[in-house]
Amino acid sequence: MLNFIIFGTPGAGKGTQAELIAKEYGLFHLSTGQALRQELESGELGSEIKQYVDQGILVPYELIVKMVNKAIAKNINCPGFIFDGYPRSLSQAEALQNFFEENDLHLDAVINLEIGEEEAKKRIILRGKTSGRSDDNPETISTRFHTYHEQTKPLLDYYQASKKIINIDGEPDIEAVAKNIDQEIEHIKKPLQ
Ligand code: AMP
Repeated sequence: MLNFIIFGTPGAGKGTQAELIAKEYGLFHLSTGQALRQELESGELGSEIKQYVDQGILVPYELIVKMVNKAIAKNINCPGFIFDGYPRSLSQAEALQNFFEENDLHLDAVINLEIGEEEAKKRIILRGKTSGRSDDNPETISTRFHTYHEQTKPLLDYYQASKKIINIDGEPDIEAVAKNIDQEIEHIKKPLQ
Protein backbone atom coordinates (compact mmCIF):
# COMPACT_ATOMS: atom_id res chain seq x y z
CA MET A 1 0.00 0.00 0.00
CA LEU A 2 1.11 3.56 -0.72
CA ASN A 3 -0.27 6.32 1.47
CA PHE A 4 0.38 10.01 0.93
CA ILE A 5 -0.70 13.35 2.29
CA ILE A 6 -0.66 16.26 -0.12
CA PHE A 7 0.06 19.45 1.77
CA GLY A 8 0.16 23.17 1.03
CA THR A 9 -1.64 26.49 1.32
CA PRO A 10 -5.06 26.99 -0.22
CA GLY A 11 -4.53 27.37 -3.98
CA ALA A 12 -1.22 25.47 -4.03
CA GLY A 13 -2.65 22.87 -6.43
CA LYS A 14 -3.32 20.05 -3.97
CA GLY A 15 -6.58 18.92 -5.55
CA THR A 16 -5.23 18.95 -9.10
CA GLN A 17 -2.06 17.04 -8.24
CA ALA A 18 -3.84 14.60 -5.91
CA GLU A 19 -6.19 13.68 -8.71
CA LEU A 20 -3.28 12.96 -11.08
CA ILE A 21 -1.38 10.90 -8.50
CA ALA A 22 -4.53 8.96 -7.60
CA LYS A 23 -5.11 8.11 -11.25
CA GLU A 24 -1.54 7.04 -11.91
CA TYR A 25 -1.10 4.84 -8.85
CA GLY A 26 -4.70 3.69 -8.39
CA LEU A 27 -4.99 5.44 -5.03
CA PHE A 28 -8.19 6.62 -3.39
CA HIS A 29 -8.28 10.43 -3.47
CA LEU A 30 -9.72 11.52 -0.15
CA SER A 31 -10.42 15.26 -0.26
CA THR A 32 -12.16 16.47 2.88
CA GLY A 33 -13.02 19.78 1.20
CA GLN A 34 -14.72 17.96 -1.67
CA ALA A 35 -16.52 15.59 0.70
CA LEU A 36 -17.75 18.58 2.70
CA ARG A 37 -18.97 20.36 -0.43
CA GLN A 38 -20.92 17.24 -1.40
CA GLU A 39 -22.41 17.13 2.06
CA LEU A 40 -23.32 20.84 1.72
CA GLU A 41 -25.24 20.10 -1.44
CA SER A 42 -27.13 17.02 -0.46
CA GLY A 43 -26.25 15.70 2.97
CA GLU A 44 -28.10 16.07 6.22
CA LEU A 45 -25.13 17.82 7.87
CA GLY A 46 -25.13 20.58 5.24
CA SER A 47 -26.49 23.40 7.35
CA GLU A 48 -24.12 22.59 10.21
CA ILE A 49 -21.07 22.64 7.94
CA LYS A 50 -21.92 25.71 5.85
CA GLN A 51 -21.08 28.30 8.49
CA TYR A 52 -17.52 27.00 8.82
CA VAL A 53 -16.77 26.52 5.12
CA ASP A 54 -18.23 29.92 4.20
CA GLN A 55 -16.09 31.60 6.84
CA GLY A 56 -12.92 29.74 5.89
CA ILE A 57 -12.43 28.16 9.30
CA LEU A 58 -12.04 24.50 10.23
CA VAL A 59 -15.11 22.31 10.52
CA PRO A 60 -15.21 20.71 14.02
CA TYR A 61 -12.79 17.89 14.68
CA GLU A 62 -15.33 15.15 15.55
CA LEU A 63 -17.24 15.61 12.34
CA ILE A 64 -14.16 15.52 10.12
CA VAL A 65 -12.40 12.62 11.82
CA LYS A 66 -15.55 10.50 11.75
CA MET A 67 -16.04 11.29 8.06
CA VAL A 68 -12.42 10.46 7.20
CA ASN A 69 -12.18 7.26 9.22
CA LYS A 70 -15.41 6.02 7.64
CA ALA A 71 -14.09 6.77 4.14
CA ILE A 72 -10.80 4.97 4.85
CA ALA A 73 -12.55 1.93 6.28
CA LYS A 74 -14.87 1.77 3.27
CA ASN A 75 -11.95 1.84 0.82
CA ILE A 76 -9.46 -0.18 2.85
CA ASN A 77 -8.86 -2.65 0.01
CA CYS A 78 -7.63 -0.06 -2.49
CA PRO A 79 -3.88 0.22 -3.29
CA GLY A 80 -3.53 3.25 -1.02
CA PHE A 81 -4.78 6.73 -0.17
CA ILE A 82 -3.90 10.27 -1.01
CA PHE A 83 -5.20 12.64 1.62
CA ASP A 84 -5.96 16.10 0.29
CA GLY A 85 -6.81 18.82 2.78
CA TYR A 86 -6.45 16.39 5.69
CA PRO A 87 -5.03 16.56 8.29
CA ARG A 88 -5.36 20.28 8.85
CA SER A 89 -4.60 20.50 12.58
CA LEU A 90 -2.37 18.73 15.06
CA SER A 91 -5.30 16.87 16.58
CA GLN A 92 -6.37 15.63 13.13
CA ALA A 93 -2.80 14.48 12.44
CA GLU A 94 -2.80 12.54 15.70
CA ALA A 95 -6.17 11.00 14.87
CA LEU A 96 -4.83 9.87 11.48
CA GLN A 97 -1.72 8.45 13.11
CA ASN A 98 -3.84 6.52 15.61
CA PHE A 99 -6.11 5.19 12.91
CA PHE A 100 -3.08 4.08 10.90
CA GLU A 101 -1.55 2.30 13.88
CA GLU A 102 -4.80 0.58 14.82
CA ASN A 103 -5.24 -0.67 11.27
CA ASP A 104 -1.63 -1.55 10.61
CA LEU A 105 -1.26 1.14 7.93
CA HIS A 106 1.77 3.26 7.14
CA LEU A 107 2.25 6.82 5.89
CA ASP A 108 4.81 6.95 3.07
CA ALA A 109 5.23 10.67 2.53
CA VAL A 110 3.86 14.16 2.91
CA ILE A 111 4.10 15.90 -0.44
CA ASN A 112 4.46 19.59 0.39
CA LEU A 113 3.60 21.89 -2.52
CA GLU A 114 5.51 25.13 -2.07
CA ILE A 115 4.07 28.24 -3.66
CA GLY A 116 4.14 31.97 -2.93
CA GLU A 117 1.05 33.35 -1.24
CA GLU A 118 0.42 35.95 -3.94
CA GLU A 119 0.50 33.32 -6.68
CA ALA A 120 -1.79 31.05 -4.65
CA LYS A 121 -4.29 33.86 -4.12
CA LYS A 122 -4.22 34.72 -7.82
CA ARG A 123 -5.01 31.10 -8.67
CA ILE A 124 -7.93 30.95 -6.24
CA ILE A 125 -9.43 34.19 -7.58
CA LEU A 126 -9.13 32.79 -11.11
CA ARG A 127 -10.67 29.48 -10.04
CA GLY A 128 -13.46 31.37 -8.25
CA LYS A 129 -14.72 32.63 -11.59
CA THR A 130 -15.76 29.12 -12.57
CA SER A 131 -15.69 26.97 -9.41
CA GLY A 132 -18.96 28.21 -7.98
CA ARG A 133 -17.33 27.79 -4.56
CA SER A 134 -18.83 30.11 -1.97
CA ASP A 135 -15.44 30.33 -0.22
CA ASP A 136 -13.43 31.51 -3.26
CA ASN A 137 -14.02 35.20 -2.48
CA PRO A 138 -11.43 37.72 -1.17
CA GLU A 139 -12.68 37.88 2.42
CA THR A 140 -12.93 34.11 2.93
CA ILE A 141 -9.65 33.54 1.11
CA SER A 142 -7.90 35.80 3.58
CA THR A 143 -9.38 33.85 6.52
CA ARG A 144 -8.44 30.54 4.89
CA PHE A 145 -4.79 31.65 4.76
CA HIS A 146 -4.99 32.78 8.37
CA THR A 147 -6.41 29.37 9.34
CA TYR A 148 -3.62 27.69 7.38
CA HIS A 149 -0.88 29.65 9.17
CA GLU A 150 -2.37 29.20 12.62
CA GLN A 151 -3.52 25.59 12.55
CA THR A 152 -2.22 23.73 9.53
CA LYS A 153 1.33 24.94 8.87
CA PRO A 154 2.60 23.70 12.28
CA LEU A 155 2.03 20.18 10.94
CA LEU A 156 5.18 20.60 8.87
CA ASP A 157 7.18 20.40 12.11
CA TYR A 158 5.16 17.38 13.20
CA TYR A 159 5.96 15.48 9.99
CA GLN A 160 9.51 16.82 9.73
CA ALA A 161 10.27 14.93 12.91
CA SER A 162 9.51 11.65 11.15
CA LYS A 163 11.39 12.74 7.99
CA LYS A 164 8.33 12.20 5.87
CA ILE A 165 8.25 15.51 4.01
CA ILE A 166 9.00 15.87 0.31
CA ASN A 167 9.15 19.50 -0.78
CA ILE A 168 7.98 20.18 -4.31
CA ASP A 169 8.04 23.53 -6.10
CA GLY A 170 4.37 24.14 -6.82
CA GLU A 171 4.86 27.21 -9.02
CA PRO A 172 5.58 25.61 -12.44
CA ASP A 173 2.76 24.39 -14.68
CA ILE A 174 0.62 21.37 -13.80
CA GLU A 175 2.55 18.83 -15.92
CA ALA A 176 5.95 19.94 -14.62
CA VAL A 177 4.84 19.70 -10.98
CA ALA A 178 3.24 16.30 -11.65
CA LYS A 179 6.47 15.04 -13.21
CA ASN A 180 8.52 16.10 -10.19
CA ILE A 181 6.09 14.41 -7.81
CA ASP A 182 6.19 11.26 -9.93
CA GLN A 183 9.97 11.08 -9.71
CA GLU A 184 9.81 11.33 -5.93
CA ILE A 185 7.16 8.63 -5.70
CA GLU A 186 9.25 6.32 -7.86
CA HIS A 187 12.14 6.77 -5.37
CA ILE A 188 9.81 5.83 -2.54
CA LYS A 189 8.45 2.80 -4.37
CA LYS A 190 11.85 1.36 -5.27
CA PRO A 191 12.88 0.03 -1.85
CA LEU A 192 9.47 -1.66 -1.64
CA GLN A 193 9.96 -3.74 -4.78
P1 AMP B 1 -10.52 22.77 0.68
O1 AMP B 1 -11.39 22.31 -0.45
O2 AMP B 1 -9.53 21.74 1.09
O3 AMP B 1 -9.89 24.10 0.39
O4 AMP B 1 -11.48 22.99 1.94
C1 AMP B 1 -12.54 23.94 1.94
C2 AMP B 1 -13.05 24.18 3.35
O5 AMP B 1 -13.57 22.97 3.91
C3 AMP B 1 -12.01 24.67 4.36
O6 AMP B 1 -11.80 26.06 4.31
C4 AMP B 1 -12.64 24.22 5.69
O7 AMP B 1 -13.69 25.09 6.08
C5 AMP B 1 -13.26 22.88 5.30
N1 AMP B 1 -12.31 21.75 5.49
C6 AMP B 1 -11.71 21.01 4.52
N2 AMP B 1 -10.91 20.08 5.04
C7 AMP B 1 -11.00 20.22 6.39
C8 AMP B 1 -10.40 19.57 7.49
N3 AMP B 1 -9.51 18.57 7.32
N4 AMP B 1 -10.74 19.99 8.74
C9 AMP B 1 -11.62 20.98 8.95
N5 AMP B 1 -12.21 21.66 7.95
C10 AMP B 1 -11.91 21.29 6.68
